[in-house]
Amino acid sequence: MKTYLCQCGSKLFFHNDRCLNCGASVAMCPSCDELTALDAGSTYGVQCNRDSCTTTYLRCKNGVDHGICNRLVPTDPSGASQLCDYCRLTTVLPDLTVPGNIELWKRLERAKQRVLYAMERSGFPVEGGAPRLSFEFKADTNLPVMTGHEDGRITVNIREADSVAREIARVNFGEPQRTLVGHLRHELGHYFWDRLVRGQRNKEFHALFGDETNPDYSTAMQRYYDQGAPSNWRTEFVSAYASMHPWEDFAETFGAYHDMLTVLATANHFGVTNLELDTFDGLIRGYARVGVMANEFNRDMGLLDLVPEVFVPAVVPKLQFVHSLRVDLV
Ligand SMILES: [Zn+2]
Ligand SMILES: [Zn+2]
Ligand SMILES: [Zn+2]
Ligand SMILES: [Zn+2]
Repeated sequence: MKTYLCQCGSKLFFHNDRCLNCGASVAMCPSCDELTALDAGSTYGVQCNRDSCTTTYLRCKNGVDHGICNRLVPTDPSGASQLCDYCRLTTVLPDLTVPGNIELWKRLERAKQRVLYAMERSGFPVEGGAPRLSFEFKADTNLPVMTGHEDGRITVNIREADSVAREIARVNFGEPQRTLVGHLRHELGHYFWDRLVRGQRNKEFHALFGDETNPDYSTAMQRYYDQGAPSNWRTEFVSAYASMHPWEDFAETFGAYHDMLTVLATANHFGVTNLELDTFDGLIRGYARVGVMANEFNRDMGLLDLVPEVFVPAVVPKLQFVHSLRVDLV
């Protein structure tokens, strides 16, 4: 993610709601698409302090009530506080009276904000379209909550926001990484398959990923959990899980593509690379270079590899297919 500049010249980071240097209240202004200092404005509104920006806003209700969000919402004539465009997409929250749940929910919302913001700017719009996108963040009750996607609705078990539980799951499933942004990118892959591939690009999809009807999803899932991934999965797939079914292959590839794009946008912002982010070949080459460097940074610090995926020849055209789904930005 890029950084932003406060009126005082200090750096601001994506989730900041206050400048640590000058103390100004800051927020993400939807008109300017910038993190910006605020003027106090009227009794129930605030104004972005850029000269060109004249709209009066409110802070998102989740920011005011829980410090979870720094986005602004145009003022409603009623003066009622409202949720921002991203917070509104969450239709089911965990029980916030349970100790610890606010913190877990906050981690989920922040990961969601970061992923949606980058995705929208790379030509994958989250507003509008069919199916409608929504998020449900739920805790296990008598029945376990399965993280997944169905008809535009992305469900995440809030346990995934607990870093100890997530690491146990990561080790048990033998995954090179398991993160909230990773889960969200994967599930958004299923969402965008419904929105941009189903009934529109089926022929190309089948040629690259296989026929999603043969075997059907439940047969494929049963086989994967009985037998595991084929021993040669690395020559065909971006991850072991991608070998389960064409839909999972697409979601894993979609996630890997957005990992690549986000890391390279950051590398460009900090002057590490100077890439055209809409040229596919440049992305692949740039990622190989930045990925090697970033992995060494992580190894220097004793962390897991930042870029565990190796883009073998069979995976590259699948990534290119995801790249081709980008909606041209105006
Ligand atoms: Zn400042
Ligand atoms: Zn503004
Ligand atoms: Zn919000
Ligand atoms: Zn999936």
